[in-house]
Amino acid sequence: MKNLFKNFVIFFTVFFVVAMLFSVFNNTKQSVKKVGLETLINQINNQEVSDIIIYGNELKIILKQGAEEVVKKEVGETFSEIIKNFNIDPAKLANIKIEVKENEGTKYWLATILPFLLPFLLIGVFIYFMMRSVQGVNTRAMSFGQSQAKEFGKEMKNKITFKDVAGVKEAKEELKEVVEFLKQPQKFIELGARIPRGVLLLGSPGTGKTLLARAVAGEASVPFFSISGSEFVEMFVGVGASRVRDLFRRAKKSSPCIVFVDEIDAVGRRRGAGLGGSHDEREQTLNQILVEMDGFEPNINVIVIAATNRPDVLDPALLRPGRFDRRIILEDPDLIDRIAILQIHAKKKPLAKDVSLRKVAERTFGFSGADLANLLNEAAILTARRNKKIIEMSELFESVEKVMLGPERKSKILSDKEKKITAYHEAGHAIVAHFSLHTDPVHKISIIARGQAGGYTIKLPNKDKYMHTKTEFTEEIAVLLAGYVAEQEVFGEVTTGSTSDLRRATNLARKLITDYGMSETLGPRTFGEKEEMIFLGREIHEQRDYSEKIAEQIDKEISSYIDKAVYQARGIIKLRRDKIEKVVKALLKKEVLEKEEFEIIVGVK
Ligand code: ADP
Ligand code: MG
Ligand code: ZN
Repeated sequence: MKNLFKNFVIFFTVFFVVAMLFSVFNNTKQSVKKVGLETLINQINNQEVSDIIIYGNELKIILKQGAEEVVKKEVGETFSEIIKNFNIDPAKLANIKIEVKENEGTKYWLATILPFLLPFLLIGVFIYFMMRSVQGVNTRAMSFGQSQAKEFGKEMKNKITFKDVAGVKEAKEELKEVVEFLKQPQKFIELGARIPRGVLLLGSPGTGKTLLARAVAGEASVPFFSISGSEFVEMFVGVGASRVRDLFRRAKKSSPCIVFVDEIDAVGRRRGAGLGGSHDEREQTLNQILVEMDGFEPNINVIVIAATNRPDVLDPALLRPGRFDRRIILEDPDLIDRIAILQIHAKKKPLAKDVSLRKVAERTFGFSGADLANLLNEAAILTARRNKKIIEMSELFESVEKVMLGPERKSKILSDKEKKITAYHEAGHAIVAHFSLHTDPVHKISIIARGQAGGYTIKLPNKDKYMHTKTEFTEEIAVLLAGYVAEQEVFGEVTTGSTSDLRRATNLARKLITDYGMSETLGPRTFGEKEEMIFLGREIHEQRDYSEKIAEQIDKEISSYIDKAVYQARGIIKLRRDKIEKVVKALLKKEVLEKEEFEIIVGVK
């Protein structure tokens, strides 16, 4: 491509010169006649001259008939000297217009050449832009197979180290080893140890997988190539594989280094499981990754770190020894880790003295690291919007809810009737939760719309909880259905406000039977093999591993759980109707009830 361009430039220059010469000859031959000084003197004496224009060493003569001439004079000799030397009668000069112009030789040439040159220039510019755009397309097409991996050099500007990652202790321990491999490979090679090639980070979204991988690179001070699995998969077949090849070629050149493949499940799905066209492409890409990882020579120090939140769909070949044989699981942070993560992200934010990050952490069970970072950011934004200089507890708590449920939608104005229905609905949830034995305490009730919800009731566990009993689940289903039951009891009919409650209750009941083995009639087994099939986008497909008859039983069992829950909820609501009325009255007045206000009405749980 470059050569072609060079040729083009040479070609253009030659053309330019030829054109110039051509125009020079043209000029002198046809339009302007060159004459001697004597001729000019004769013409002046014969009164044939109308204008004389003096350009430096040249005189341009315009004759009365309109013809033009050029006369050269000696350098340094002025026109008046010439007149004197040739004894010209001044009277004869009186009718001649004499003009002195600055030495405009170049300008003059340009003026004569330009008309000839202009078309060529235009064509040249045109061709240049054509070439450029063609070239652009070409280079784009050429670079298609190149990996889009972003490289972060050794001197990363805001280098991330393990200090920036809170919690995940075990993961950090494991990865410290990887850092040592990268820093002092010799130590391990001398002992005949095989350096691990692949480390797989497993964990739900936002648990800090990407963060950890970057921290490893930062700790080891090695280059870090980062690419996302979905970038491998493009429209065109074969691109993924060639990108992998290119990525590893670049990585090997800068060894020791880290190649980070984010979201590897996009390419590393079990082969042969998919339907549709994209599946061949993934297979090729995955194969190429495996080939590259197998092909590392022992002295090449490239460690591949991959991250995924779907380990269940990964191809077993990826997990074989010599590939991603180190697996590190990242879990959602527990209370202590949540405090630590909050502390890290609160560092650059001015917090009020009475802020207790512990209290925030207590309210955020189930939040991931990313959620917590987001929470602090929302709190800072909220504080700024309130024109305050320091973040206080109230902003932090409000942000917890915002992250949990989406932003408040004060603009969604409910009519009085809708407000009343929502109040009864939420009071139903709250009362049933409060008077059930194994549910979490009610933390807040609100009839201000937030995210998708028209109103909401928040329950929060006193402690992080990782195991659940069947009783807890059945009570939970009752609480979920309590809004529906309250509407039915009070108004005699239900609204669309319960849709998502019903869906959640049904899903929970199904899980209880098919996943947790908690149904007495169907026994301790699971039903259905969940497998992800890709066909025109994402779709979870459940492989049925049970008969039609069992399916019927499952359906019946779900309905019976739901019926029991409705019965349970109705019992509590009927019994505590007076409390519901009080809560509704308070809600309609204040829209929001905090835990303490709620407990004043119903008593402490
Ligand atoms: P993942 O890749 O697992 O989806 P990320 O690594 O992208 O999650 O995490 C997103 C953000 O969440 C990080 O940039 C960081 O701000 C925050 N974060 C997550 N986990 C932690 C942690 N353990 N310590 C500090 N910050 C964390
Ligand atoms: Mg990530
Ligand atoms: Zn509800």
